[in-house]
Amino acid sequence: MAEIHELSAVLADQIAAGEVVERPASVVKELVENALDAKAAQITIETKEAGLEMIRVTDDGEGIEADDVETAFKRHATSKITSREDLFRVATLGFRGEALPSIASVSDVVLMTAHAGDETGTTIHIKGGKIVSNDASQLRNGTQITVSDLFFNTPARLKYLSSLATELSHVSDIVNRLALSHSDVAFVLKNNGKTLLKTAGNGNQKQTFSAIYGVKSAAKMIYFNAKDLDFEVDGMVSYPELTRSNRNGISLMINGRYIRNFKLTKAVLNGYGSKLMVGRFPYAVINIRLDPLLCDVNVHPTKQEVRISKEPQLEKLISEGIFARLSQENLIPNAVKNL
Ligand code: ADP
Ligand code: MG
Repeated sequence: MAEIHELSAVLADQIAAGEVVERPASVVKELVENALDAKAAQITIETKEAGLEMIRVTDDGEGIEADDVETAFKRHATSKITSREDLFRVATLGFRGEALPSIASVSDVVLMTAHAGDETGTTIHIKGGKIVSNDASQLRNGTQITVSDLFFNTPARLKYLSSLATELSHVSDIVNRLALSHSDVAFVLKNNGKTLLKTAGNGNQKQTFSAIYGVKSAAKMIYFNAKDLDFEVDGMVSYPELTRSNRNGISLMINGRYIRNFKLTKAVLNGYGSKLMVGRFPYAVINIRLDPLLCDVNVHPTKQEVRISKEPQLEKLISEGIFARLSQENLIPNAVKNL
């Protein structure tokens, strides 16, 4: 008897979920990215118990057509890319078609949506990857997705989660960075009814920064920009006097996608030369624009790691751009001040 068989779709989705859905914050990230890809202007994220009990993301984006709603929950089903060429020129945050099926395989999901021009909306309920119901419903503007009982059927993953405070800080962190990378979108984040973030969505990145880190910190940020044949960089960096004890105040975006990158973070620090005290790190918001062909986003399922061609050239541009800007200011290097 043959021993090799294909896994069921639900089991395959649960395995994929292991990579995409690590914790409540990963669900929040995927759902907000979908809202951004749907061109929402207003995104509200509500969680209960840091997202373990419930995560709800409401957007006023394009919505999903009734006929597409079930397909959206199938693995590798996406409206964002079609061909191999598209894969090398990804302009949306999502493209792998993995998030919805992965999330739905390890939780209880209700999605309500309506597409412009449709006569009715749709409400679909999926639990543990199985469709419970799919009905026409009242028309609403955009999409609302509610994820409850995350990891109810994967107890090992549930056990691995940290304290509520830690999970909430991950949720806050990712929403902050998504808001920072999309200052033209109004964000609201609430946990257990308490508002943790509210941004204006007027396109002013400094105001968004201020909503996250406070007015006093925002006042200590200065704009800079730099450009060469391949890259355009702009953003804000803090005066060397405004620092913190870790690198988390540094946010990097490539073509509007928040990314993590050790070398580019290092490049920001290098831009400060000897102006920072040992063990202290600045705040920075670095917006990088490049031809999508120079950047491979298909490295990891969470898409936070990317591979950049000509990375050393970009590091140099960032370091020198920041260094030049800070040198224009009349700064007393902290290293000297603290002797
Ligand atoms: P991906 O984002 O990689 O395409 P997802 O599984 O996250 O894959 O979503 C599948 C599809 O469902 C998307 O391509 C999109 O067409 C649709 N979709 C998901 N969320 C939304 C939303 N909030 N608004 C409009 N369409 C959505
Ligand atoms: Mg997606």
